[in-house]
Amino acid sequence: MYPKADDNKIYDLIILGAGPAGLTAAIYGGRANLSTLVLEQMVSGGEIATTDQLENYPGFPQGISGAEFGQLLEQQAVRFGAEIISAAIDEVDPEGDIKKVSTSRGDFYGRTMVVASGTSPRLLGVPGEEKYRGRGISFCATCDGFFFRDKKVAVVGGGDSAVKEALYLTRFAREVILIHRRDELRAVSALQKQILGHPQVTFLWDTVVEEFKGDQNLTTLVIKNVKDSTTSELPVDGVFLYVGRIPNTGFLKGVEKDPQGYIITSEEMETTISGLFAAGDVRRKFLRQVITAAADGAIAAMMAVRYLG
Ligand code: NAP
Repeated sequence: MYPKADDNKIYDLIILGAGPAGLTAAIYGGRANLSTLVLEQMVSGGEIATTDQLENYPGFPQGISGAEFGQLLEQQAVRFGAEIISAAIDEVDPEGDIKKVSTSRGDFYGRTMVVASGTSPRLLGVPGEEKYRGRGISFCATCDGFFFRDKKVAVVGGGDSAVKEALYLTRFAREVILIHRRDELRAVSALQKQILGHPQVTFLWDTVVEEFKGDQNLTTLVIKNVKDSTTSELPVDGVFLYVGRIPNTGFLKGVEKDPQGYIITSEEMETTISGLFAAGDVRRKFLRQVITAAADGAIAAMMAVRYLG
């Protein structure tokens, strides 16, 4: 069903990642008549495809489902001639005039490249986390919330994601316990207003998870109050981890990144390697939102056009 790598073909533009940044780059690249390939290992839309509702993208006053938004972006990119191939990226050789990306579906070559590979969930790194991943530990309320109808779930984190997804989980779960390591949320005030005082949500402030326990499935969180160092056990049916993200840049060597691994770019999305651009959440930036990802993608594609001359 999916095309395989064509050994002879050199694309004008290869885009790594089909989130809002990558697909916007594909729309702009396609419209500028560049032969454009998008490589994506998950689904179109990237992280936003796992979000129930996108509420703050201009032009959608009632919001739009993240999955639908991702599909619309894909349709638009394909309409302007972009090819989208489902492949996992193993390694990128970005130096020189022809850049190479090695993937699970073979090697692809491009004259320019836009890295729009986004971020992945950060793990807590405590015992039991690997064992109970998918057995009670989830990173996606939109995907798994349904399985916790009338159950008791915990959400770990205090940022926009934790609060937004905890609110989403109140549609299904009987009780949502938000566990945060401080006594103040990081989330924007609009989200804070919705969750503070919510009848189904209780808060465990100044608390961290030290271990995940259970039998076949997760049953218990071992939690510690960081103020008085007391430890206790909290029975839960499931837990959703939203403790931040890490950039998907492990496959990319030789380009300047910050200490967390985010790619450093100019305002025009140029990296330290000529003809290699980065866009969206994967780059070091102030505001990681769909709108800024899309803007990055547009700029990166137009810089590729300029680079190709
Ligand atoms: P985030 O803003 O980095 O928040 C991560 C949360 O996890 C913080 O509350 C942090 O605590 C906590 N945390 C980090 N490491 C931890 C650890 N080891 N143990 C316990 N807690 C830990 O991440 P995010 O919420 O995923 O958001 C990522 C970006 O996407 C942000 O820029 C956000 O604005 C954006 N976003 C926006 C929306 C929206 O609707 N507009 C929705 C989702 C995400 P501290 O607060 O103490 O640091």
